[in-house]
Amino acid sequence: CGIVGYVGDRQAADFLLEGLAKLEYRGYDSAGIAVYHDGALDVQKKMGRLVNLRQAVEADRGLTGHIGIGHTRWATHGGPSDLNAHPHLSEHGDFAIVHNGIIENYMPLKEELLAKGYHFKSETDSEVVAHLCEEMYDGDFASTVRKVLKRLRGSYSLVFMTVHQPDTIICCKKDNPLIVGLGEGENYIASDIPAILGYTRKTYIMNDGEMAIVKKDNVWVTDLEGNPISKKVFLVNWDA
Ligand code: GLU
Repeated sequence: CGIVGYVGDRQAADFLLEGLAKLEYRGYDSAGIAVYHDGALDVQKKMGRLVNLRQAVEADRGLTGHIGIGHTRWATHGGPSDLNAHPHLSEHGDFAIVHNGIIENYMPLKEELLAKGYHFKSETDSEVVAHLCEEMYDGDFASTVRKVLKRLRGSYSLVFMTVHQPDTIICCKKDNPLIVGLGEGENYIASDIPAILGYTRKTYIMNDGEMAIVKKDNVWVTDLEGNPISKKVFLVNWDA
């Protein structure tokens, strides 16, 4: 339902929790964040109000790091629970994803991945995306995401992280909103503008068929074949 992402010099968890709080008005049943730290993607996710997640993050003093993604979930496939909350990790924890929307062909994808030995921890449609990343990983993060997207039917805002390229977040959308906020030495991702107001007014409003490769000092937008797209900066001229 709500999506946020951060890469920069701050503690990512602080931005992510604050951003998710600004998206609370949209409603949700659970929430979670993933932060890259010391070679691994660390996840905390909790059913219920954001305060539950906040307490879990505070108790987990290892959840430090300067790049991360967050999600508030409005369940469509699988009831509200800690395990069904996003982010979802791939089999060996190499990829983390958050997803808004519905992966319509998740059943055949899940059967294919189960047959290949992948284990599912949730009942969501979204978890197939994390495992597919690991299955289709070709040594290049962006190229892998493009291959995964070609296998998905349905609607999504999707945000990806990987231990293989821990300075980068990749995001894309189809029939669901997504924006990239452009900062100084830091960049942001969100499903809606209120999450990033207070940090920047400069944004890229993402269109279907576009993918953003987001690092601390730069954002590249490409189509789903990898061809560069030159985006116009949209300046937000209203306040929260
Ligand atoms: N379909 C996904 C799920 O049920 C995402 C729901 C959402 O958009 O929050 O987990």
